[in-house]
Amino acid sequence: MKKKKGSKLHFTLWAITLIPMFCLWFVISVVSINKVKEVITEQAKSNLHTVLHSVTSAYYEMSNDDVFYFLEEDGEYYIMKGELCLNYEMDYILELKEATGMDISFFNENIRVMTTLTDSDGEYLTGTTVKNYVKTQVIDNGEEVFFDNVYIDDVKSFSYYAPLYNPDDTIVGMVGISKPADTVNKDIFKVVAPMLTVTIILMIIAGAITAVYSENLIKVIDKTKNFLSKVAVGNLSCTISSDVLKRNDEIGDIGRSAVDMQKSLKSFVERDALTGLLNRRYGNMAFVDVSKNAENTGETYSVCLCDIDFFKKVNDTYGHDAGDLVLKAVANVISNHMVGKGYSVRWGGEEFLLVFKGISEDTAKYILEGMIEEIREMEVVDGDNIIKVTMTFGLVEKTDDIPAEEIINKADELLYYGKSHGRNQIVRSEDIG
Ligand code: GH3
Ligand code: MG
Ligand code: MG
Repeated sequence: MKKKKGSKLHFTLWAITLIPMFCLWFVISVVSINKVKEVITEQAKSNLHTVLHSVTSAYYEMSNDDVFYFLEEDGEYYIMKGELCLNYEMDYILELKEATGMDISFFNENIRVMTTLTDSDGEYLTGTTVKNYVKTQVIDNGEEVFFDNVYIDDVKSFSYYAPLYNPDDTIVGMVGISKPADTVNKDIFKVVAPMLTVTIILMIIAGAITAVYSENLIKVIDKTKNFLSKVAVGNLSCTISSDVLKRNDEIGDIGRSAVDMQKSLKSFVERDALTGLLNRRYGNMAFVDVSKNAENTGETYSVCLCDIDFFKKVNDTYGHDAGDLVLKAVANVISNHMVGKGYSVRWGGEEFLLVFKGISEDTAKYILEGMIEEIREMEVVDGDNIIKVTMTFGLVEKTDDIPAEEIINKADELLYYGKSHGRNQIVRSEDIG
C-alpha cells in the first residue's frame, strides 16, 4: 500500500475545523459590522439633528419676532429676517462647520439660499438645489427627514432636513445639515477594524492548533496503518508504536485491537490448535534459527523427541475425545517444564519435539526426569474414567559429530530404541552402547 502525500484525512480535518469557523467568523463579522454601522449612523443622525435644532433656534432668535422670508436679486438668493439679511450673519454656522465638520444650508423651496457648502474654488454653493421629493417631504408635509446616502456636490453624505418655521408656525423654508459619509465610515472602521483583527488572529491561532492536533492524529493513524500493512503481508513479529498504544481514545483502541489480531494470527499460524504448542511448520523454522545461532555463537543445545506410549490403546479404550484430553494434559506438563529452557513442538499425532537452548544433555536429562515422572503420576479424568499414560524420550546434544540437519533423526533413532526396549524411559546415545 503506497502512502499518498497530503492525505485525504489531513484535508478532512482541516475542512471540518476551518469551514465552520470561517462561516461563523463571516456571520459574526457581517452582523457586528452592520450593528456598528447602525449605531454609528444613528449617532450621526442624532448629531445632525442636534446641530440642526441649535442652528434653527439661533437664527430664530435673531431680529426678535420678525419673520423669515427670501429675496432674489440679479440671480442672487438671500434669506431675510425682518430687515436683517442673514447671508451676512454666517459667523455662527461657519464656526459650527469648523467645530463639527457639518455643512449647514438654508433652503427656499429646494434652492440653497445660504450655505456653508463651497465648491473647489471656495465659492459658496448658493443657488444649488436638492431633489424635489426632499422639499415635498419637509416643506409641504412638515416632516424632518434623514438620508444616509445622498450626493451633495458629488460627495456621498449623511443629511438631515427639517422645516424652517416662522413665529406664527408657518413653514417658510427648510434647513439641511450634512456630513460627508466617509467621515462616518471612518468611525465605523475605527470600531470594526480592531474587532476584525482580533477575530482573524483567533482564526489563525485556531488554524494553527488544528494543524498541530491533526498532524499528531495523522501521525498515530499512519503508525497504526503501517503496522497493519506489515501484518497484512505476513510480518507477525513487527511491533506497533507505543504512541498508539498509550492513547486512551478510539485510535488507541484500534491499535490494541490490531495487536490482538496480530497475536491471534500469530497463534493461528504458529501454534497447534489442540495443545497450544508450536506446530511442526513453525517448530522447524524455529529449529533452523536455533541451529544457526548455535553455529555462530558456539553455544550448545539439546534435542528430544518424545512420544506417548500405547496411545492408540487410549483412543481405542476411552474414545478419541478422551485421547484429546490426554494430549492436552501431556502438552501442558511438557510446556510447564520447558519454561525458560527452550521450546516445545507438537511434532506429530502424539509425538513432541523439545529443543533445549544453551542446555547440555545432562541438564536436559535432569529436566526430562522431572517431566517423565510427572506424566507417570498424572491422572486424566474423563467422566468415570481415570487415564494414565507413560512416555518415551530420545535425547541428544548437538556435538561436532552430528550435523544440525541430522540431530532430529538421531533423537528419533533413540526414541525408536526406547520404544522397542520397554518404553517409559529417557534414552541417550550412551544408553544404546
Ligand atoms: P507406541 O507406544 O508405539 O507409540 O504406540 P502408539 O499406539 O502410541 O502408536 P501408534 O502410532 O500406533 O498410534 C498413535 C495414535 O495416535 C494413532 C492416532 O489415531 C492417534 N492420534 C494421532 N493424533 C491424534 C489426535 O489429535 N487425537 C487423538 N485422540 N488421537 C490421535
Ligand atoms: Mg505412541
Ligand atoms: Mg507416534
